[in-house]
Amino acid sequence: MINTTFIRAIRDNLFDFVAPEHCAICNKHIKPNTAQFKMLCNACLNSIPYAPPPNIIRNRLYEHFSEEMVSIDGATSLLSLKENTQYLQAIHKFKYEGLSQLAYEYGKLLGRRMQIDGMTKYEYIIPVPIHKVKYRERGYNQSYYIALGLNGFVSGDMSDDFVRRNQYTKTQTALSKEQRKHNVRNIYEINKKFDPYGSRILLVDDVLTTGSTINSLAASLKSAGAESCDCATVAIA
Ligand SMILES: [Zn+2]
Repeated sequence: MINTTFIRAIRDNLFDFVAPEHCAICNKHIKPNTAQFKMLCNACLNSIPYAPPPNIIRNRLYEHFSEEMVSIDGATSLLSLKENTQYLQAIHKFKYEGLSQLAYEYGKLLGRRMQIDGMTKYEYIIPVPIHKVKYRERGYNQSYYIALGLNGFVSGDMSDDFVRRNQYTKTQTALSKEQRKHNVRNIYEINKKFDPYGSRILLVDDVLTTGSTINSLAASLKSAGAESCDCATVAIA
């Protein structure tokens, strides 16, 4: 499964994976082989606005959900986007402007962070799926490339075939806790061939805001028997 998804990624990105010359954050020229991570110069790499530790990130979920509604066990993230517009723009680049390789590079950085957090062993790694209409618009799911990048640091079978997204939802932020609960119910469908029973699962997404959609996916997987569901995102907003 890892092999087929990886080969597909290579095929889809044959042209994207040509070494880039400019930093995605400051736009400075990067000399080949001088940057640890492609697409970010060492100066920008050293000034990353790191997100707080996992326990703080998970506690934030209680701002939006009552305790019994939280299905996510552990949560980690790379960046805190509250005040840093440069890094926010970089997220937009990989989300809307076709820079899938940047999602991959951020995935590697996130994977490195997860090694520090001790979140490295899973049976399955699931990129949070986007709706097929959005997929057609963008041509790729950014979460898939983030997952591909972190999979070099975090173990688990990674595939975008385990679950799919059935419907669009309204934006969550303006809704009350109760409305939010109804809005996200059953938006994901688990592939009949995928059995999450007894497994530790990592969900991967780009940005954690209220956590509604990722929590809904965790709830569906746990109803299907998953033992635990952690989530990892490139950023918290
Ligand atoms: Zn830079």
